[in-house]
Amino acid sequence: MNSYPAVILKKGKESSLERMHPWIFSGAVARTEPEPELGSAVRVLAADKRMLGVGFWEGGSIAVRMISFAERPVNEELFVERLSAAWKMRNELGLTGSEKTNAFRLVHGDGDGIPGLILDWYAGHAVLQAHSYGIYRQAETIASALKQVCGDELKQLYDKSKSTLGGRKLSSLENRYLFAGGEPLTETVIRENGHAFKVNWEEGQKTGFFLDQRDNRAKLAAYAEGRRVLNAFSYSGGFSIYALRAGAEKVVSVDSSGPAMAMLEENLKLNGTLKNHESIKAEVQPFLKERAGEFDLIILDPPAFAKHKSARHQAVQGYKRLNQAAMERLKPGSLLMSFSCSQVVGTELFEGALRAAAIEAGRSISVLERLSQPADHPVNLAQPEGEYLKGLLMRVR
Ligand code: SAH
Repeated sequence: MNSYPAVILKKGKESSLERMHPWIFSGAVARTEPEPELGSAVRVLAADKRMLGVGFWEGGSIAVRMISFAERPVNEELFVERLSAAWKMRNELGLTGSEKTNAFRLVHGDGDGIPGLILDWYAGHAVLQAHSYGIYRQAETIASALKQVCGDELKQLYDKSKSTLGGRKLSSLENRYLFAGGEPLTETVIRENGHAFKVNWEEGQKTGFFLDQRDNRAKLAAYAEGRRVLNAFSYSGGFSIYALRAGAEKVVSVDSSGPAMAMLEENLKLNGTLKNHESIKAEVQPFLKERAGEFDLIILDPPAFAKHKSARHQAVQGYKRLNQAAMERLKPGSLLMSFSCSQVVGTELFEGALRAAAIEAGRSISVLERLSQPADHPVNLAQPEGEYLKGLLMRVR
């Protein structure tokens, strides 16, 4: 590993690494020897040449993402170690080998010590997304390590990395099966808390399914009996099916995506929940203005309104407008389950937006539960930026 290019930091800039934060910003770098290729493994040294660890050269405002604070090679052995630890943790969580749930996030980036790697597990069908050049370059090594760790339980591994990263085009990754035991499949049926969902990783959004809402869907089920439920931004109907099977009086699912509505229809059939359900392909905001008053439980789970800090202010305004439209029309005793998955909008900011929405709507609102991402989407304590999903379950007084 002495062959890895060296990244030498400016004086004093090693302090964030000493707090085990895994990012090095470009302003902290004094020089590189030699200039590393994008995504290649690098050694990181303090100004006094003290070894600080190894990482991936990302070359943007985040210059390096650390994978180890010790001096060690970045090879299959390292990935086997990290993937085994990730698998063991999901096993302790009762997710592997479970009858009720066979889909989960196996690797959540820095929360599992592998910066930039997302690995979702759909009943033996793994789907990878590289969110860093480092992981993009290591995809084949990761595939081989995953085979070692999962053995026959791994049926295939599909690479769903975007073809551009940080504005730069990567060589084509489209429809890349890094590993397939037999003829590659594009979809399967998974179980989540005993409910069935069809997941198609090639055509679906993200890696195919929003695994991060598993615990919150189960929470919703506990409140849904006898209620008239609106599932706004429903995607393939996760919350809708939980509500119907928990005895909701009716459920209306709204999403603007045609393919999402088609998946929802299939999922309703799979679960025998076609009754008391209405699917509507529409924009949520105008729908709320027209019909929100018909419901006594509304779920708002919009896509990230802000992907970058620059869009943060606008995003907060967006959350406020959206929630206000629901709050204005909900009668006393109604519930509102509202989420933000924008990483740059923190919990305080999001709650502030909801507070402002309640004031504008002239409603008194009680917070019943604070909601977050589940344990298979862990956050590295040293890097709070890894927390992204936040929500409140509220009751209108
Ligand atoms: N709650 C879902 C995930 C929602 S993801 C689940 O548990 O699986 C966000 C969804 O919002 C996507 O399906 C997207 O198609 C939809 N969407 C985005 N903008 C929208 C809009 N303005 N109106 C309606 N749906 C929208």
